[in-house]
Amino acid sequence: QFPCHGHIDGPIVIIGFGSIGRGTLPLIERHFEYDAKKVYVIEPELSDHTFLAQRGIHHVETAITRANYREVLAGIFERGKGFCVNLSVDTSSLDIMIFCREMGVLYIDTVVEPWAGFYFETENNAARTNYALRQAVRDEKAHNPGGTTAVSCCGANPGMVSWFVKEALMTLARDTGRSDPQPTTREGWASLMMSLGVKGIHIAERDTQKSTRHKKMGTFVNTWSVEGFISEGFQPAELGWGTHETWFPENAHHHAKGCKAAIWIERPGAITRVHTWCPTPGPQFGFLVTHNEAISISDYYTIGDGAAPLYRPTCHYAYHPCDDAVLSLHETFGSGKLQARYHILDENEITDGIDELGVLLYGHEKNALWFGSRLSIEETRYLAPFQNATGLQVSSAVLAGMVWALENPQAGIVETDEMDHARCLEVQRRYLGPVEAHYTDWTPLTDRWSQFAEDIDESDPWQFRNVLAS
Ligand code: NAD
Repeated sequence: QFPCHGHIDGPIVIIGFGSIGRGTLPLIERHFEYDAKKVYVIEPELSDHTFLAQRGIHHVETAITRANYREVLAGIFERGKGFCVNLSVDTSSLDIMIFCREMGVLYIDTVVEPWAGFYFETENNAARTNYALRQAVRDEKAHNPGGTTAVSCCGANPGMVSWFVKEALMTLARDTGRSDPQPTTREGWASLMMSLGVKGIHIAERDTQKSTRHKKMGTFVNTWSVEGFISEGFQPAELGWGTHETWFPENAHHHAKGCKAAIWIERPGAITRVHTWCPTPGPQFGFLVTHNEAISISDYYTIGDGAAPLYRPTCHYAYHPCDDAVLSLHETFGSGKLQARYHILDENEITDGIDELGVLLYGHEKNALWFGSRLSIEETRYLAPFQNATGLQVSSAVLAGMVWALENPQAGIVETDEMDHARCLEVQRRYLGPVEAHYTDWTPLTDRWSQFAEDIDESDPWQFRNVLAS
């Protein structure tokens, strides 16, 4: 019933066994052939030790650090063999990726994670951005092109949403009566997006998963890593900055170096709200939390020089997390303190809800198109064990990225925009529930409260000035 997608020669090492690691393991077991005696989980927490031991999986009870990562990994991997699946927090994606490529070991992660301390101890806000983290990986790719494949940022978002952008573009081309062949190059995709008149993209998400228990004061509740969400929420808001924008936020900055596709705002993303749209709620507020894909997508679809492009779409996350997470953020920022307890809602306690995660392509002839996955908790339980809907959207993207890496083992460092989106979605789709396209005539100027004057541009609905909530 489950297709085997390939043979992994040598050790499989999962770094971090939290909500995503736990969900990814059963997909690896289902879809690959490998030596069952060579599966390792590096995880400092002991709570899953028995679970791992019962499955014959080696539990390396260590936190990976800047000081030990080479020694720990060199003690497991054989040169030229194996797969490193990094699903942890507080470990440097870049350093581990470089080491794996030196060893000829395939590598994948879901975020450009820095070593512990980066998010809260870096004083300069520009240096605390995802732009800076991503640029370091892009610089490494430029300095050391080709070689063993390392897939950067291959979760749901960043990750799968980049594949959705391409599906959405082909859908929009078809639905506007065009017969463009599928582009085969970056330039081709960028030209297609420009010619379709797309001004920008929201990564538009609504998570309605909930349990019957009320969130307790002093506990941060989420449907995936609380640590991960707090870290990115405290980073400055960031977005890919499109060529159609005529206004520039007073508290925003360009970057001096790198691809120059994005800007950052002097405000944490988790308290920066934007007007957006998803199929279930319709219009809603989302948080402009910084994400790698906001930068990578704007960069990938740029035409011309990075500093003064002919065309570039605006791109940013517009995230409405589960209700308990919204309340948790409210508490964190209101109190100026991190909560004492963290809790990830799991598949056993969630009673209903879906994670609706898609890309909203806007500003074109048909106004706006949302294309994405609307995966429910019920369907998730049926499809795969040990995870909620959010987790399965991520772990199935990791699976797809691993398959692509096995099929393209010498592709160097890649982001998901640079991978074969059709092949990846072919692998992933069985785990995504309904994948749907929805057109809407909503714009950021629709459904606003008119009693209070706002600083908006009524002549051009899709200006970021109208999207950013005051
Ligand atoms: P989690 O908080 O549930 O688990 C993280 C695990 O890493 C924990 O078990 C923790 O003990 C372990 N860990 C902490 N420090 C470590 C170290 N030094 N060495 C090894 N392990 C360590 O997080 P999660 O929800 O499983 O998310 C894992 C990663 O995936 C995070 O970086 C998160 O940001 C990322 N993520 C990406 C996406 C996406 O769509 N791209 C979605 C969800 C999560």
